[in-house]
This record gives sequence, C-alpha cells and structure tokens, in this order.
Amino acid sequence: MCRTSAELHTLGMTTMRCVVVREHGGVERLQLEERPVPTPGPGQVRVHVRAIGLNHLDTWVRRGVAGHQFPLPLILSSDASGVIDAVGRSVAGVREGDEVVVLPGVSCGACEACQSGVDHLCRDYDILGESCDGTGAEYVCLPAANVAPKPRLLGFEDAAAICLVFQTAWNMLVRRAELRAGETVLVHAGLSGVGSAAVQIARALGAQVVATAGGPEKCAKVAALGAHHVIDYQATDFVAEVRKLTGKAGVQVVFEHVGEATFSGSLKCLSRGGRVVTCGATTGGNVQVSLHQVFFKSLSILGSTMGSKGDLRHVLRMFEQGQFRAVLDRTLPMDQVAEGHRLLEAREAMGKIVLTV
Ligand SMILES: [Zn+2]
Repeated sequence: MCRTSAELHTLGMTTMRCVVVREHGGVERLQLEERPVPTPGPGQVRVHVRAIGLNHLDTWVRRGVAGHQFPLPLILSSDASGVIDAVGRSVAGVREGDEVVVLPGVSCGACEACQSGVDHLCRDYDILGESCDGTGAEYVCLPAANVAPKPRLLGFEDAAAICLVFQTAWNMLVRRAELRAGETVLVHAGLSGVGSAAVQIARALGAQVVATAGGPEKCAKVAALGAHHVIDYQATDFVAEVRKLTGKAGVQVVFEHVGEATFSGSLKCLSRGGRVVTCGATTGGNVQVSLHQVFFKSLSILGSTMGSKGDLRHVLRMFEQGQFRAVLDRTLPMDQVAEGHRLLEAREAMGKIVLTV
C-alpha cells in the first residue's frame, strides 16, 4: 500500500519520488508517488538519478497494449543518468561517486544467449520500466552490470537520452541489416529518438543517408544531423522521392519503426535484395505484405528489439570520442512527466524529452 511521505518519515524511512502507473490510460494515470529509498542488494548498485530519458515505450506502458500484460504497478522509464551513491556486497569495478548511465536491459547473465554476447535474446530479459520497475525515480537499484561510465563529453541530461535508442538503432543497422559503407539507407522519422540515432550511426558507417521528417523545421534539423537527403513526408510522397533520388533502383536498407502508415511504402522503396528492419509500430502493427514482392525482389524483413550491452558500451565509447550527439527537444522537471508524454504522443517533440530530478 502506498503511504504518504509524512507516514514514511514517521516510520524512520527516507523517501523518494517516483513516476508510477497503477492503471492503464491517459496521462492522468501518471502518478508521482513517495516510496522508501531502496537499498542495494548483493551485486547491485544504487544510482542517485539526475536525469530520466523518456521514450515512446513509456507511453505504450502507460496506455497499455492489447493482448499484452504489463506487471502493474510499474515505475516507468528505461533511461537515466546519475551518480552511484551506494554499492551492495560483491560488486567490483563500480564505486560510490561514479557518474553513470543506466543500461536499460536486465538479463540473467547465466544462459547461452547471455554468455554469447546477445543478452537481449535472454529468455529472462527485462526492459526497465516495461517488465520490471524502471528508472523514473530519484533512486534506483540495479545490477552492477546495468551501469556504465557516463561519456565525459555529455551532461547528465544528454546522457539520459541516448542508451535505449542508440542500442536499438545500432542493433538494427549493424547486427540485423548489416548496413555497409556505400549502401543507401532510408530512415523514417529522422528526428524521432531511434531515427536520430539511426541517421548518425548510418552516417558513421559510411552509408548514404536518406531520411524523412514532417515539416521544414524538422527537415533542417535532420540534415544538420548528417542526412544527405531529407524528404518532407508532409509535402511529398516518400516512395516517389526515393525512386527519384535512386534513379528508380531503390535503397538497400529501410529503417522502420512507424508501422502501418509507412510499411508498404517501405517495401516499395527497397532495391532487389534489399532489407527492411523494424523495431516498432507506432502507427499500428497490422501491415499487408505481398509475398510476391518479397520473393520476386529477394527482400528480407528483419525484426529487432533492443541490443547487446557490449554493443551499447561500444556506442558509449563513440560518444566519448565525440562521434555522436544526443538530440534533445527539452528538459522538464520530473513533476511535469504528463506534459512529456503529451509532447511525445502529439509528435510535437523535436528530439528527446528528458526529466530533471
Ligand atoms: Zn540469460
């Protein structure tokens, strides 16, 4: 049962605020609750959270997904940065005072997938804030394996905005689609969280980057991230534009996360032997696929969720070297989390939303 702050203080407990969903629904279901500050168990560290990164995933967990059971009540959010302020027994390599980012996937560490470096394929895999309590709190206890040094070039706000989206985009482009230098990739919604990560990763890999965005202001921001061509999907048909740009040949890879609104167009944009890789379906997941198109053009449809911790640590090193940057729309105080969700759902955000603690 949730107690008030005053009651917890009477019990001698130090309390913290956290963002909790107890029932699915609109932004009014987001509750700021007081809970006791957790104590790290063996193998765990406690992060004093400085900034919390929001993702579209947060809004799905809040709204609920038909046919999927979330273990409510849940503390929301998968991304955060902060400072280690307590360390449990049997923890090596992490100390109090370390500035860290949170790695958002928790796995068993003992199975074949975990030991093969593909921990995101572990059968006991949890995404923070989705299948277990997340980072939307002033303090969070995590396995020591779930923190990594904060890239020194980034402030806490920027650092809280990168892990989930860069891990996802890296796994999609590098591991699943195997995008190579000299190939052309179409990235949908190049200013969205995963989109802005994909534009930067594809550029760093040496690919030719075509991206979409809605409206001239967003298009200019995507071009500044490194896209070679930006298509304003509100003004033109992206399929026709891709055909024009590629001399009707199509692109080798399409980076999908939009779903029903774009998927059939994405398949039409592919060259022979092309690959579409998808990590999401923000406009719905029931798409029509013509098998004739798939086999005649030798297409590959690839699914992807999250990515390995090893790849994420590699990405963080690239941030350390200044090769990538976080794309923030704005920061909001933690008690304005509802406004953050509203901005994401209305597609008003031009980049990531970060809550300051
Ligand atoms: Zn495992």
